[in-house]
Amino acid sequence: MHKDNIKFQSCLIGKTIAVPFNNDFELISKLRKLLSPPLPFEISIYFAPNPLISTAGRRLPGYKNFIGRNKKFQTKKFNQMLIKALKEAKSYGFTTNLLLNNILLGMAHDNKTLIHDIKKIQNYLEKLYKTGYLDKVTIGNPYLLELINWNKLKNLEIKTSVNFQIKDAKTIEMLNILSDYWLEKNRLTTIEIQKDLLRDLKTLKKIKKAIKNKIRLSIIVNEGCITSCPYQLAHQIHAFTTPIDTLPGFDKNFKFAIAKCKYITCSAPWKIFDSNWILPKHLRYYKNLIDEFKLTDRNDSTETILNTVKAYVINQYDKENLCKLISLLNMEKFLFPEFILGKNFFKKITSDRKPDDKYYKKLWQKLVVYNKNKGIKVGIKLKGLQKSNLHRFIRNY
Ligand SMILES: [Zn+2]
Repeated sequence: MHKDNIKFQSCLIGKTIAVPFNNDFELISKLRKLLSPPLPFEISIYFAPNPLISTAGRRLPGYKNFIGRNKKFQTKKFNQMLIKALKEAKSYGFTTNLLLNNILLGMAHDNKTLIHDIKKIQNYLEKLYKTGYLDKVTIGNPYLLELINWNKLKNLEIKTSVNFQIKDAKTIEMLNILSDYWLEKNRLTTIEIQKDLLRDLKTLKKIKKAIKNKIRLSIIVNEGCITSCPYQLAHQIHAFTTPIDTLPGFDKNFKFAIAKCKYITCSAPWKIFDSNWILPKHLRYYKNLIDEFKLTDRNDSTETILNTVKAYVINQYDKENLCKLISLLNMEKFLFPEFILGKNFFKKITSDRKPDDKYYKKLWQKLVVYNKNKGIKVGIKLKGLQKSNLHRFIRNY
């Protein structure tokens, strides 16, 4: 029992919970109020870098706070806030992690840009590292592993991002060789594995067996991208590289910036159940498989992020509406009560013989009926980017 009588999920002892920072300075002190030390687990807060160094994806949360009167991004103000936030997080015993997961995703770079970008990132990392408040950096591509001069960042831990798309032990072993055996040297400490593995315990077990305890495995637990979606990589790359309205000059109606999962669930809404999320009570099934449970989304409000932490760490949440837990359902207006999933949901979705659409359609039907009885009309809210809309936009019709 915690001194404030907070009961944590016991399966979290010794684990890491990765929490997003949304550029709201208050989030960190509020998080501390919710989870005051000593904690039986690690809270690792992940931060987006200065968007002029690396766009770091999506819109920069709270970007308006960093746009000056001249409509330009106030680099200095952002840097000061970030260092202050890192310092605050460290002072509460949390650990810190900087996201560089959108850089060098294998997209074409001309030689001059490559030199320029790597130098810029190197300098930025060294500057943050020297503050002593940065513990870890997340990289999105093995190029960074090879191109950054990590000797100048001696004690900085490295985590690989979900963008590596790691889904077997073979890739992890190759990374080990590529990095000069940094897995064994405890420099490359954490690997975030491909999102779909969340519901593939068989593969998870295989990976864990092959890598033993040499490296920590991390996975996102509440995102809600459709499992096996052909658009998954496209969605990810857009999410990680498109600044949308972060910086002046970007089109606010950037067509491609809409999560394709949302577009698919417009016509096949039952797919929301066949997506990469699990409930707080399911975390215990990962006790010997996963070391870091990553919560998303860093574009959410402080209140939403704190509610998500509360849900997965303390197992306290609104059981009448799971939409609030799952990042891609967060903006929906219908209710998603937990009871419609039934007792065997987790067993079913993780069994070798995965349920087919019929099973998910039945769940959807239950959800529709439940809402109807409450006078709520169910529909996926975000209709954006249907094929026909897109064709009309490019005047292909
Ligand atoms: Zn997606």
